Order: sequence, then C-alpha cells, then structure tokens
Amino acid sequence: METILLLAHTENDGSLAKAVREALHAAATLHKSLAGSKLVVGLIGDKVQAAANSIAASPVTKYFGVTGTDFSQSRYATDAVAAEAICRAAQATIVVAPATSRWARVLPGVAQRLGGRVDTHVTGVAAADGKFSVSRWYYRQRMEGALTRTQRPWLIGIDPGSQTACDCGAGTAAVEMVAVNLAETAKRTTVVDIREPKADAQTIRPDAQLLFVTGAGWTKKQADGQTHLPDAEKLILGFLKNSRASLGSSKSLVDLSGEGQAVLPFLSHLNQIGQTGATPRHPKGLSTCCHGEEPHTVGWRFIGDRRAVNLDPNCGWARGKADVLYVGDAFAVVSKVNALLAANS
Ligand SMILES: Cc1cc2nc3c(=O)[nH]c(=O)nc-3n(C[C@H](O)[C@H](O)[C@H](O)COP(=O)(O)OP(=O)(O)OC[C@H]3O[C@@H](n4cnc5c(N)ncnc54)[C@H](O)[C@@H]3O)c2cc1C
Repeated sequence: METILLLAHTENDGSLAKAVREALHAAATLHKSLAGSKLVVGLIGDKVQAAANSIAASPVTKYFGVTGTDFSQSRYATDAVAAEAICRAAQATIVVAPATSRWARVLPGVAQRLGGRVDTHVTGVAAADGKFSVSRWYYRQRMEGALTRTQRPWLIGIDPGSQTACDCGAGTAAVEMVAVNLAETAKRTTVVDIREPKADAQTIRPDAQLLFVTGAGWTKKQADGQTHLPDAEKLILGFLKNSRASLGSSKSLVDLSGEGQAVLPFLSHLNQIGQTGATPRHPKGLSTCCHGEEPHTVGWRFIGDRRAVNLDPNCGWARGKADVLYVGDAFAVVSKVNALLAANS
C-alpha cells in the first residue's frame, strides 16, 4: 500500500504557489488510481497553518509541518533536513513535489538520505492495476519516456505548468508538527537580498496566454537597405505592453549581443527558445522575423496554436512547423496589431 506525500514549501507570504496545486493534482490523481493508498501533505516554511487550511478540502488524510524562521528561506542545508524529517514521519513511499527552483535543488539529496530514488522533470503520472508510471521528455523534448520503479521511497519532481492546478477548496487542517534538530552549521548560508527585474521590465511570463517570439530579422536590413532597430524595439515593447505576452527569442538574435552588434537590450539568453534554450508552455505562440529552423522550433513542443510572420514563403514555418504562416512584413503587421490592441484596451 502506497503512502503518497505531497511535499511543499510555502511562499514568503505563507501561501502556496500554483506549482504546489499542480503537484497536488498529480498526487491526488495517483491516490485515486491506486486502491488502498493514503494521501498526506508535508509543508515547510515559517508558518504553515494558513497554507494547510487553503487546501483542506482535498482528500488528504494527514498534514505534517516543519516550521520556524530557520525554514522560511531557500537553503539546501535546512530544507534537506526538514524534507527528510517529514518523509520519515509520514513513512512516505511516494513523494510528489513541485519542481520549484527551491525544491529542484533539494530533492536529489533527500532521495539519497532516504535510500530512495528521484525522477526530475516529470510531466505526467498514470496508474493502472496497482502499478504506476511517470513520464518525462528526453533529447530536448523530442521523445517522451514512461518509467516505473520498484525502489521506495520514490521522489518525483513535477515540472510547473505541466498539470492542471487542483482547485480543492479551503477548510481547517490539523497539522502535526515534526521536530527537527538543526546543527548550527546548517544555518551558515543566509539569503541577504533578492534582485529581480522590476515587474514592468520582466519579459518572461510563464502564465501568459501568448508566447511572442522575435528573431534576427528584426535587426536585418529591410527593403530600404537600412536596419531599423529603434523601430523594432518600439514595436516589440509596444506589443508586449498591450498583449502581456511572454517574450521569447531565436538563438541568432540573443547571440548578436555577444558579437558586439547593436541589439535589443531587453533580450537575454534567458529568452532563447529551442534545443539549447527553453521549452515554455503557452496556449498560443506568435513568431516574428524568425526563420523557424528545427533547433528553434523544437522549443515550441508545448505551444498550442503556432503562428508566424515571415517575408519568406519558403521559411521553416511553412514546412509543417506552424499552424498558420502569414507571409508579410512583421514591421507593418505588428504596427497594425499594436494600433488595434491600443484601440481595444
Ligand atoms: C546545436 C545547435 C543548437 C541550436 N539551438 C538553437 C536554439 O535553442 N534556439 C534557436 O533559436 N536556434 C538554435 N540554433 C540556431 C538555429 O539553427 C538558427 O540558426 C536560428 O534559430 C536562426 O535564428 P533566426 O530565425 O532568428 O534568424 P535567421 O535565420 O537570420 O532568420 C531571420 C528571418 O527573418 C525574416 N525577416 C527579415 N525581415 C523580416 C520582416 N521585415 N518581416 C518578416 N520576416 C522578416 C527572414 O525572412 C528570415 O527568415 C541552434 C543551432 C545549432 C547548430
């Protein structure tokens, strides 16, 4: 009989992130499919009662908590000790955790401490006849594999954005506190500051409905024989402002800055989509001035509706990579779209 533990940490304000609710959805799916299994939750943070209450209407039978200011920040030494203590207290055989940056650093070490196994980047769970498997993608999302394991505990990191979030409601949860003896050496590392771009300078928006991709064409000489970088910048930023889309880029465009050419200053390698870039998940995608080559479009694996604007009717998008290709000048198209968006806002 499996004991399925959802292992989560709270946010700074004591709430649970969407990624936790997604992992809870995966854990609850397993619990429903595995007859006789138990579903329990373990929470780590400064305080966890409000977080436990916020999901109390789920089929969870027991809540465990490790609390205190020592556990409010992301720190391997304290997170690993707390997670290990909860796994042992719950006698968990399956541990499902959201692959937040904080948990992704800790889960493999916890598996090692427990003598278990860990699988990362899991995007699906399925169960049948008392056995279950997890699935994940390989070779830059070109192949999907399904795995089963007999070793327990089995720790599973669920990729954020891959599941629907559990909309289980609130209630009152009884949380059993788990005592943890922390060595002074576990507290040597301290988070002193978080530096992040201002909200309006943040161009990567995982929850956006649309991924807007810019390619090197924005920096190329146009029909008049000139480049139009200031126009490109204005059009792209205008589109992002009006649509709240997430900004992606081709490798060629982000690489241009490394080659000392004048480029769009708001793009970094973090925006790169593709084989050596990111594989984001959005319902829709619009590519502009990008050729649509295979190493780039492999990053569009999880984009629902794919559209592209390119001057070249023979570009890569025309060869089965996009659902719709608009053959046209992206400067003119985006300018018109921006005017329509502004008029409708
Ligand atoms: C091992 C390896 C890994 C790679 N990984 C990645 C990766 O992760 N991501 C990635 O993106 N690439 C990757 N690449 C590079 C990839 O093969 C392409 O070179 C790159 O994606 C091309 O970028 P681009 O389409 O922006 O530029 P270009 O190929 O220069 O295309 C520019 C396009 O803009 C169009 N254009 C120009 N002006 C306009 C206009 N006014 N309106 C409309 N269209 C216009 C042109 O017709 C052209 O099609 C990788 C390559 C290798 C070898």
